Amino acid sequence: MKEGKLIVFSAPSGSGKTTIVRHLLSKPELNLAFSVSATSRPRRPREKNGEHYYFMTISQFKQHIRNGDFLEWEEVYRDNFYGTLKSEVERLWGEGKNVIFDIDVAGGLRIKKKYPKQTLAVFVKPPSVDELKIRLKKRSTESEDKINMRIAKASVELATAPQFDRIIKNYDLDTALEEAYQLVAKYVGAPNPDKDTAS
Ligand code: 5GP
Repeated sequence: MKEGKLIVFSAPSGSGKTTIVRHLLSKPELNLAFSVSATSRPRRPREKNGEHYYFMTISQFKQHIRNGDFLEWEEVYRDNFYGTLKSEVERLWGEGKNVIFDIDVAGGLRIKKKYPKQTLAVFVKPPSVDELKIRLKKRSTESEDKINMRIAKASVELATAPQFDRIIKNYDLDTALEEAYQLVAKYVGAPNPDKDTAS
């Protein structure tokens, strides 16, 4: 199988990486496909199994760990396991796609380590930890407790930024989208990336 390129977007929760990844996926010339992760966290109301995540129980997740099915996995928050299935990346490579990941910093760095030559690892930096808190509250997908857990983790995650290939500051969304587009277009060798606009 021809192995494509891997593009990892990592950041603390609430930094806007999911918005950036969605924007990039809407650009056909980048030939990207989203790596759907497995997770043991509960499904949110608008999420679909197989599209946003492969939702599973903790014991199913642990069985996959024992079977060696993961390229990487992390217990990102207590009892909330997340991981990239090898079969997912192979499936997308089989379709001739470049694979894009929206995963936590530890997982992102692990993929970079496994595939150093074909991975672009991008860290999305929020303006500040306070701003993260505001964004997470606005999103209101998590309880106060869980928001605090995510904020506590953010400072540790921010310290890993220098280990990534590139850092995109998400202070202004349009600027971050355009910067991400140019970066990825160049990396995958998309035709005429300069002609794109971020809209
Ligand atoms: P959420 O619960 O908000 O969907 O995701 C929580 C965190 O887990 C986010 O930082 C997300 O990027 C990360 N995540 C999602 N999938 C994976 C994965 O497969 N592996 C790792 N290591 N982290 C993931």
